[in-house]
Amino acid sequence: MTTATQAETMGFQTEVKQLLQLMIHSLYSNREIFLRELISNAADACDKLRYEALDNDALYGNDSELRVEIEHDAEAGTVTVRDNGIGMSRDEVIQNLGTIARSGTAEFLQQLSGEKQKDAKLIGQFGVGFYSGFIVSDEITVRTRRVDQEQGVEWHSRGEGEFDIADIDKPERGTEIVLHLKEDAKEFADAERLKHLVRTYSDHIEVPVRMPKVEKAHDEEGNEIEGSETVTWETVNEATALWVRPKEEISDDEYKAFYKHVAHDFSDPLTWSHNKVEGTLEYTSLLYVPGRAPFDLNQREGVRGLKLYAQRVFIMDDAEQFLPLYLRFMKGVVDSKDLSLNISRELLQKDPQVDKLKSALTKRSLDMLKKLAKDEESYQTFWNAFGNVLKEGPAEDFANRDKVAELLRFSSTHTDSATQDQSLAGYVSRMKEGQQKIYYLVADGFNAASHSPHLEIFRKKGIEVLLLHDRIDEWLMSHLTEYDSKSLVDVAKGDLDLDEMADEEEKKAQEETAKAKAPLLERVKTALGDEVQEVRITHRLTDSPACVVLSEHDMGYQMRRLMEAAGQPLPEVKPILELNPEHGLVTRLESADDSRFDDLARILLDQAIIAEGGHLEDPATYVQRLNKLLSS
Ligand code: ADP
Ligand code: MG
Repeated sequence: MTTATQAETMGFQTEVKQLLQLMIHSLYSNREIFLRELISNAADACDKLRYEALDNDALYGNDSELRVEIEHDAEAGTVTVRDNGIGMSRDEVIQNLGTIARSGTAEFLQQLSGEKQKDAKLIGQFGVGFYSGFIVSDEITVRTRRVDQEQGVEWHSRGEGEFDIADIDKPERGTEIVLHLKEDAKEFADAERLKHLVRTYSDHIEVPVRMPKVEKAHDEEGNEIEGSETVTWETVNEATALWVRPKEEISDDEYKAFYKHVAHDFSDPLTWSHNKVEGTLEYTSLLYVPGRAPFDLNQREGVRGLKLYAQRVFIMDDAEQFLPLYLRFMKGVVDSKDLSLNISRELLQKDPQVDKLKSALTKRSLDMLKKLAKDEESYQTFWNAFGNVLKEGPAEDFANRDKVAELLRFSSTHTDSATQDQSLAGYVSRMKEGQQKIYYLVADGFNAASHSPHLEIFRKKGIEVLLLHDRIDEWLMSHLTEYDSKSLVDVAKGDLDLDEMADEEEKKAQEETAKAKAPLLERVKTALGDEVQEVRITHRLTDSPACVVLSEHDMGYQMRRLMEAAGQPLPEVKPILELNPEHGLVTRLESADDSRFDDLARILLDQAIIAEGGHLEDPATYVQRLNKLLSS
């Protein structure tokens, strides 16, 4: 019957071997999820066939009723999951069931620690998929035939280092997966158990999931008649697409289970929003905010997008046209009434309907986040996972800039904690009387930010400053110049104008100091020459002797480093050196003789640059100068 030709044994990709071991070890207590994963794949395979058959009916042959079947054999200890979906070619089998073709896999595996619970979470985040079959099986056989090929393929493995692959005859298209259960997993070869699992995890799958029901005829006395078994197939899941059903009838558990199917995630979503829209634009959307970041979130070209249906027919996974990049963490389904069934990725880009859907779904997502923000704890979970992505919003989506701004969270001198949990609205509500601007500081890390000399005057006056310490922050702020009609001001740039809050006396005193110190400033400028744009008396410092500031329109240090790393040539910027006349070092400078004066002035400049997180071009000379001064 089976003419196995071209049999060969192949090794799993190293990453698969690692993943298999870790998964079996850490997912033991969740092992029932194997069934969900296999049904999910079977349903996807049916969706794909339905899509390919849209313009080629003949693919169905005489079997157009797509379905998933689950059978078991308690004696043999096997469970079989079968579908009449698209099937796989030999190459696809080798690719899909022998490798992990996702970028970042090696990095992901490195994060695993061997600690069961932690790893279980991480692996869930990675997506367990087909390989989860090995949590319950010591052997798996896959028989499959791609709909457009004549040759069937059999894949067989014990989940150790390798798998066998051979050509087989397989008259029916689609895929059959036979799990040979491990001794301690034989409990799954049980009709009630399987039925229960299907209802728990796969109720929402649109394709019917069927199980055999064996019935026997009875004689007149009510005894079973030997050999009279008839098998009927019973659909055990709900088998309607979840998003088509009325909201009121869908339980939270069903929403969560569906999320796991569409998002290939393992843990619960934070929130979701299910909407049917009628009118000029007709669509149904079911959007989810995941509870944690997938491992490849930061790769802007990584997997993203919604699952697209048109009139309930699956069209494609990862349709990225429906949401902007900065919302790439959103998961879910969009089912449009208006899109044509044979739309391709290329056509999607040009379809005006898609733009309308995009702006509607963007708005919907931002509203969901706004609602989520009312629950501080959940929102913090969201922010920790996706805040850095959302920060791309103001640059990417001008129209929704204000909405995104409401959703941002920062560290601040209000709490002096590295946790980013302060909103701009909160800042505004705490503004001092007379304060008209929102102040922020950008640094490379939280400590560098919270210890920056630029904060001295603000701390003294009790004015709050947002402490921005993510790589993307300066870029964010270059696109977010206003909030609630208040400008956002970098405290390390420009001529800090706290005048609005300084009293008259203070102002007068400052002017007088500036006048009195004019000769000193002149002398420092001469000593430093071209290295600085200007030397002036500070309004910022109370404890430090000096700081460097940039002109208002100069690019900040963080952004410079980003651009330099990207190989962008940048014009040189010269800092402004500000001196604190109250400080002992500055008084010493004033009375220093010429030779010491130069050294001292340079040290002040270099130190100010270091405090800023900047790099000295000639650190060795700085150290020499300092040592000279210290030992004299
Ligand atoms: P994912 O479903 O997240 O892509 P899986 O490990 O579950 O990852 O499956 C890997 C791939 O194997 C699928 O993307 C699909 O191409 C293929 N595959 C798995 N099961 C089937 C099936 N029953 N029919 C057709 N292809 C399948
Ligand atoms: Mg899968």
